[in-house]
Amino acid sequence: MRYFIGNWKMFGVPKSINILNKINSFHSKDKNRKKYRVIITPPYTLIETFSNNFKKKKILIGSQNCYQKEQFSSDTAAISPFMIKSVGAKYTLIGHSDNRSEGDTNSMLKNKVQFALKNNLKIVFCIGENKSEKKNNRTLIVLKNQIRKVLEKKFNRNDIIIAYEPIWSIGTGKIPTLTELTKTIIYIKKVLKNIFKKKSPPVLYGGSVDETNIKIFKEIKEIDGFLIGGASKSSKKFIDIIKNYYR
Ligand code: PEP
Repeated sequence: MRYFIGNWKMFGVPKSINILNKINSFHSKDKNRKKYRVIITPPYTLIETFSNNFKKKKILIGSQNCYQKEQFSSDTAAISPFMIKSVGAKYTLIGHSDNRSEGDTNSMLKNKVQFALKNNLKIVFCIGENKSEKKNNRTLIVLKNQIRKVLEKKFNRNDIIIAYEPIWSIGTGKIPTLTELTKTIIYIKKVLKNIFKKKSPPVLYGGSVDETNIKIFKEIKEIDGFLIGGASKSSKKFIDIIKNYYR
């Protein structure tokens, strides 16, 4: 199974559902549709409308983040996994570099993972090195720490997806080389296999994926799918990414 996840970030109003309608009509007729899953993570404000509209369809809705407490609390503007689940989301991103840079620590991330899973949300756990870590050849050690400080073998592997997103690549148009990326994905899977009884959860790539460079990424069979930011806000680009992946 492959995954194409669209992270809308701070984008979208109720009428943006048109974008999902177009993706859905492509997906419902696509001869490859059984080979992949489409997940869209709109902002919190749209989760309920989108989930209700796509309840009986194949597109799944997720959240971009969740708070590190389970249900209700007195934290202003915080939204818990329980609340996200209650409006129909099936997935949540956790540990996106945007949120790590705003202060998400490993122990906060561990609580997020724990409470999201407890509330039957599947998680997309984001990891990635920054520019200086890459320059200093610290990529693999950084990734290993990000995984091992948060994920534990007691978590159900089937509810977890990993998204490898080098921070220097997000929104910049810069992408890793094929050799670099293959090596990194294989390493991530090795670390995960050590935690999860010899079987790795799916590992996706994210960072400036578009309808052109997808032809390069598809060469790497170890990549189980893609987390797509900028290009997921256009139905055409998002659909072209899927079409070009299977071409
Ligand atoms: C992201 O923010 O998760 C992302 C992958 O963004 P982009 O595709 O725009 O680099």
